[in-house]
Amino acid sequence: MDIQTLSRLRQDLRRLAAELGREIEAVFGRAPLVKGTVYEMARKCGKPSCACARGELHRSTVMSWSHQGKTRLMSVPPERRTELRGKSEEYQRVRGARAKVSAISKKMLAVIDQIEQVRRE
Ligand SMILES: [Zn+2]
Repeated sequence: MDIQTLSRLRQDLRRLAAELGREIEAVFGRAPLVKGTVYEMARKCGKPSCACARGELHRSTVMSWSHQGKTRLMSVPPERRTELRGKSEEYQRVRGARAKVSAISKKMLAVIDQIEQVRRE
């Protein structure tokens, strides 16, 4: 058995497990979230006499999300902007953590396989 390789792999696995523990914290939160992205939209209404035709675009806050493969759009009233932005950010945090947990898990499995190889008689 290659003790040095085993020692390095064990360190790798411990480091990944600690990383996994940190990333997963974002998922343990209890704050409500909304599946969507909040952003400001600027558009023209199409009336040639409107100010938007001269570059003063109509601005509104919207939230978009994907539902059954389609992108849905909802206009966000001013009084809900802060709330929905916060909940959307929480959603992005959880999704980000999920992606990292997935990547770290794959690395852990690879290290575990290597440890098995080194320890095999
Ligand atoms: Zn207009």
